[in-house]
Amino acid sequence: MQYKSTRGDVLLMNSAEAIVKGLASDGGLFVPATMPHVTMDFIESFIPLCYEERACKVLELFLTDYTAAELSDCVSRAYGRENFDAAKRAPLARFGDMSVLELWHGPTSAFKDMALQLLPQLMVTALKKLGEKATILILVATSGDTGKAALEGFCDVEQTKIMVFYPENGVSKIQQAQMRTQEGKNVDVTAIRGNFDDAQRGVKAIFSDTALGAELAQRDVKLSSANSINWGRLVPQIVYYFSAYADLLDEGCITHGEIIDFTVPTGNFGDILAGYYAKEMGLPIHKLICASNSNNVLTDFLRTGVYDCKRDFVKTISPSMDILISSNLERLLYHVTNDAEKVASWMEKLQKAGRYDIGATLLKTIQETFWADWANDIETEKMIEKAYEEQHYVPDTHTAVAWKVANAYRAATGDTHHMVIVSTASPYKFSKSVLDALHVDVSGLDAFAMLEKLEQINPVATPKGLASLQSKPVLHHAACDYERMGDCVLSFASGKDS
Ligand SMILES: *Cc1c(COP(=O)(O)O)cnc(C)c1O
Repeated sequence: MQYKSTRGDVLLMNSAEAIVKGLASDGGLFVPATMPHVTMDFIESFIPLCYEERACKVLELFLTDYTAAELSDCVSRAYGRENFDAAKRAPLARFGDMSVLELWHGPTSAFKDMALQLLPQLMVTALKKLGEKATILILVATSGDTGKAALEGFCDVEQTKIMVFYPENGVSKIQQAQMRTQEGKNVDVTAIRGNFDDAQRGVKAIFSDTALGAELAQRDVKLSSANSINWGRLVPQIVYYFSAYADLLDEGCITHGEIIDFTVPTGNFGDILAGYYAKEMGLPIHKLICASNSNNVLTDFLRTGVYDCKRDFVKTISPSMDILISSNLERLLYHVTNDAEKVASWMEKLQKAGRYDIGATLLKTIQETFWADWANDIETEKMIEKAYEEQHYVPDTHTAVAWKVANAYRAATGDTHHMVIVSTASPYKFSKSVLDALHVDVSGLDAFAMLEKLEQINPVATPKGLASLQSKPVLHHAACDYERMGDCVLSFASGKDS
């Protein structure tokens, strides 16, 4: 399988090259040059398999330059039992004709683990295959979930180092504790005196700083990124759509070939795009429902064909979806048009004017697969309350956005296919918002006491990784101004592994 750029760069690459490179030279994203197709027999063959085996079956269709042994080695390191607290890795909670696909049983209790446990393994294997000897230094600017998931994924992975920058006062107490207690010889965590945009701007400036790049090259260090535009982060996410379908078949909840719907809480469009790949490959998916919070750029786009990010950024109780530019949408636009020139021109308009319009015909094509709606914070809280009252289930705020939108979709369309709600975080990660929604008084409680409070009413226990945080020593105290991030990078790159 070869990969090409969404913006027309004609150079074809294999998957190892695409994963190491991250972004194409013309600024586009790597996409597979052809779409693999599967049969219902292939899908049914997943039923007796464990998650790791299912992952190998999907990955080998896309990462054809990796050997079967390489893939199975990567997958067992990523999804080993000691990393996940659920035997099925991505289990379904069933509620009649709806189910909730729990993608938060990994080490950091958010769905980013599904991809960020595997990406580092795919990357070091790619380095070996390509004969690359340099140390790869991963830089991450994070508003919370991605930083910790990337740290866990890259921790002690040979030939790599990872540096995470987070806004000093811009992440939750739990998220900060998760990052500051991170162990590992090759990790560094630094607080930035500024907000997330400052951290992000600092990282971007480092990537385009040629003098710094030359200094790093002298030390045999190359920079790379772990954010969701890397193909190696997208491809692992296709697996759980197949896995969910196989489990539904296994439980007799659907019949051979029956079509189902997925509702996905969406920010950067990576999670839902993996569902699109699964559908294009032949998984019987009817509709992919895109759920947004008050930052509802995607709802408007999927209803009107106009992508317009010139609007106020809203801080919500589902912060991992507080995003106005969904980078992975570019891949969808490429696949539905097969026209890199057009995609490049829309992306240029987005950058220059903050807006582009794909026109009515193309919109209609996209709407054959996608439906969209959004939920504000009050609706999200009401949904958490309703799920708890009716199902005795506590969804996190992001999952609740999706659940509300799934209900709205059914009410609006009368569609009765089995609905899978994709659940992207453990409710414990957002305890305060969840307890508020359930009208539990949290005044005077710190973040750790809130975990205990939530555990008293939630039938599911606190994930180990969160429960043990309070007793872990803080290993990372550093803070810096964002103008000085480059110096931090150079000094970390120069240091010995200790
Ligand atoms: C990252 C994230 C999302 C959004 O996923 P995208 O792939 O960016 O659309 C939703 N929920 C949680 C909890 C996340 O961490």
